[in-house]
Amino acid sequence: MPGTLIIVTAPSGAGKTTLVQGLLKADTGVQLSVSYTTRAPRPGEADGREYRFVDINRFRELRDAGEFLEWAEVHGNYYGTSKAWLRSELDAGRDTLVEIDWQGAQQVRKMFPESVGIFILPPSMDELERRLRGRGTDSEEVIIRRLLGARGEMRHVSEFDYVIINNELPDALEDLVAVVRAARLRYANQHARHPSYFDFLEKD
Ligand code: 5GP
Repeated sequence: MPGTLIIVTAPSGAGKTTLVQGLLKADTGVQLSVSYTTRAPRPGEADGREYRFVDINRFRELRDAGEFLEWAEVHGNYYGTSKAWLRSELDAGRDTLVEIDWQGAQQVRKMFPESVGIFILPPSMDELERRLRGRGTDSEEVIIRRLLGARGEMRHVSEFDYVIINNELPDALEDLVAVVRAARLRYANQHARHPSYFDFLEKD
């Protein structure tokens, strides 16, 4: 597949959204896959940009029609990645980043073994709690649920190819840009992108 599939996973509050937005600015060759979710939009979020916001009935319809590459329930809401869209983007050579939780990452890895998995960690659990509280958009109950969820999510760090510890944002962003750039240069990706050149080089 000529496009590179990049999986980015992190517990809420690790700085994933900021890092991914920074990557998209620094590297215009990467686009974001927009998931479906049943969660309500947060202030500032727009339908079709951060997510496609749907109700639970529509989500079930899409799921039952086999529209999702993967889907998962996270913190009581449903999230899913569109399968057909992702395949056609990768086939067309567009590097695409999916921001999904560890369950989704496992499913995507099975279907796209050549994908690159990146896990973003906060510097510590204390710092994660501070960041979740500082965001000020979620209730206490939601924050506690997310902290517990984060601990569970972080247990899956070993399943990923690269780990970025988001201590200082500019450094973490540099790391992310470097990983994506290196991933794009892997043999299989270059071969898929330049088939006739490689066929010429490798013929007897
Ligand atoms: P949030 O509601 O804070 O935007 O996201 C909550 C969690 O849902 C995050 O861990 C995020 O990575 C995950 N998530 C977002 N989109 C998808 C998706 O399409 N599939 C899966 N499995 N998880 C997703």
